[in-house]
Amino acid sequence: MPGQLSRGPTRKEYRNAVPPPAVYLHMRAVVYHGVGDIRLEDVREPKIRESTDAIVRLTASAICGTDLHLVRGTVPGMKRGTILGHEGVGIVEQIGRDVRNLCEGDRVVIPSTIGCGICSYCRSGYYSQCDNANPKGKGTAFFGGPEESGGFDGLQAEKARVPYANVGLVKLPDTVTDDDAIMLSDIFPTGYFGAKLAQVKSGDTVAVFGCGPVGQFVITSLKLLGVGRIFAVDTIPSRLEMARAQGAEVIDFNEEHPVMAIREMTHGTGVDRAVDAVGVDSVCPHSGPASKEARQKADSYKSELREIAPKFNPRNGNWNPGDAPSQALEWAVEALAKAGTLSIIGVYPQTMKRFPIGAAMMKNLTVTSGNCNHRKYLPKLIDMVSANIVRPTSILTKVEPLESVLDAYKAFDQRQAGWIKVELLPAA
Ligand SMILES: [Zn+2]
Ligand SMILES: [Zn+2]
Repeated sequence: MPGQLSRGPTRKEYRNAVPPPAVYLHMRAVVYHGVGDIRLEDVREPKIRESTDAIVRLTASAICGTDLHLVRGTVPGMKRGTILGHEGVGIVEQIGRDVRNLCEGDRVVIPSTIGCGICSYCRSGYYSQCDNANPKGKGTAFFGGPEESGGFDGLQAEKARVPYANVGLVKLPDTVTDDDAIMLSDIFPTGYFGAKLAQVKSGDTVAVFGCGPVGQFVITSLKLLGVGRIFAVDTIPSRLEMARAQGAEVIDFNEEHPVMAIREMTHGTGVDRAVDAVGVDSVCPHSGPASKEARQKADSYKSELREIAPKFNPRNGNWNPGDAPSQALEWAVEALAKAGTLSIIGVYPQTMKRFPIGAAMMKNLTVTSGNCNHRKYLPKLIDMVSANIVRPTSILTKVEPLESVLDAYKAFDQRQAGWIKVELLPAA
């Protein structure tokens, strides 16, 4: 009515009418704060954002070599505040309305890479090249990675939001324990993918460069695929010992020149296939017959490092980058027989530009590479574990509570004996 004063609620009434601010529950998580600076903190629990999301309560997580590249700075582009980790097993706690194939309470493994299941790449099995999962447009989408891989919060936490949960999450049978399943989240499928990329045939002779956890699963997978001989190249005694236990012929690059040793043991021919399971943090030999060559290339390796990453932050013996980024690639190309295949699954950032293309071309080598399409291999590998054909726990060497994650990171970073693969227990 004109002229009539309309009085709204008093300030007190208004304050009482407005719902209180949302109450966020908190959880423990490993948070990236900068190169060489990660912290275990209380952060907000994740919430469902999209209809195809799920919230998973993690019962197992793990530390991976990829996490070390991020903390050391050799894979740059991490945003401060991102939760680290891309390996996880857990219980579905909540699902969006378009997750029709899972129920709350299901026990699942989370593939490290994220795919939509809709685009042509996902439909062809190239989940790591999904057109839709990465909001940044290009590059593989994965948990706990740099901004260009989507900036998704990771799995070293009590809970995680899983995008495209209806496509990614795979239910686990009771016959597969958490200790086995955590290896299925990333490193076993990545090792299997590396062996498949190498185009191995029955009876082949194969060299595996790098005997960390992924290298170990490359060896396991090569055996499953029926190769003849496997050479395993590394320098850490516990890693070489594990490779030997798997039946590989081991070569310590600080004692022998790995290329010479391989040539000698193949009567000059070289290997049919090689797998680079090292990546950007490659370390060159500091003793033995291969060290002279490495010393001559020291300046070149230093300039590679400068090209790759803008910042390093070594502290108290931790977070040192490797000192020869292209070393594993060079050795692999040299060790291969003519017309052989090189499979590259070690992680290199987009800033890495060097590859011995001339030598590869002169030998008619086939070069394959990429990020694992985890989801493609998971059902098959779960069946193999369930049937006791493979026991992934034979690669697991440490199980630690999430609360001691920072010490675990440091020991793993220093490649201390016994710290080959670390599982984390968020609930412990
Ligand atoms: Zn991993
Ligand atoms: Zn897709």
